[in-house]
Amino acid sequence: LDNTSYYAGVDIGGTKIASIVCNEQGQVLAHLRDDTHSPVSGDLSIKRIADLIRATAARANIPPDSLSAVGVSAPGPLNVASGTIIHVPVLKWTNMPVRDLLAAELGVPVLLENDGTAAAYGEYLFGAGKDVNNLAFICMGTGIGGGIVINGTVYRGRHDHAGEFGHICVEKNGRLCACGNKGCLEAYASGTNITKIAREVFAQTGLYTEDAINAMDCMAFEKLARAGDPLALSIWNEVGQKLGLAISIVVQSLDPDIVVIGGGVSRALDLIYDTVVQSTKNNIFAILHSDLKIAAAQLGDHAGALGAAFLARGERT
Ligand SMILES: [Zn+2]
Repeated sequence: LDNTSYYAGVDIGGTKIASIVCNEQGQVLAHLRDDTHSPVSGDLSIKRIADLIRATAARANIPPDSLSAVGVSAPGPLNVASGTIIHVPVLKWTNMPVRDLLAAELGVPVLLENDGTAAAYGEYLFGAGKDVNNLAFICMGTGIGGGIVINGTVYRGRHDHAGEFGHICVEKNGRLCACGNKGCLEAYASGTNITKIAREVFAQTGLYTEDAINAMDCMAFEKLARAGDPLALSIWNEVGQKLGLAISIVVQSLDPDIVVIGGGVSRALDLIYDTVVQSTKNNIFAILHSDLKIAAAQLGDHAGALGAAFLARGERT
């Protein structure tokens, strides 16, 4: 028997829970996801998370009580020091002491982390940022989150929500964002909002039926753009412009080694890459230009769980 330690990571999203079990080298030995929980059901219990971790450990042939630590990546607002989720409407959780409840259920040390920060740390350790010390991560999914690693350490900020890049204002008095402010990056460049904007634009042409338009999702508009549809291309061009503007603020503030773009929308990064880079460069100080690195994330769905697992590992030692 070897002395390797094993860790589990869980990523709690609005519509799914995903878990991994990994070794000291960050190799994912097993992973599982639970898609059954619906965003409005509110029945996502601590026991279900614990069951998913136990099942994942079993799949990796590791007794759950021999896990060294468990990291939980979750949407916020949350408090890392107290291990409490303050309020997540989609889960119907308010002041939920996730860390302590899960630690009691599993008998293993647990760490709770902001999902953007956890994913940033995962990409820093094992993904697009594994050769650098300073990384900014922007996660473009149904919403837009992010995280920051400086000198190899996560930077959480005063409220554990540093790196909320989705709410950088990219248009004064612009589109209304889910956060209540106007003109946030998220209001233009999240998967949900790209779809919404594209449907509005396509509806105005009068060339498509309402049913046809409502059947088109973000990926459908991406396919149209790749096929050279000028209207779809103009929509993605605008996404690239806005993303570049937000990245310029990130780069200007942090001067990181790399800006990593993850989440479902990042599948289309190659489509808008030149626009993103140009828009970023147009808005930053010249010295930051020369070797600016903007790259797609590499860990996909595992980034948050892996990052949380290794933050929990660090906390333990
Ligand atoms: Zn916002």
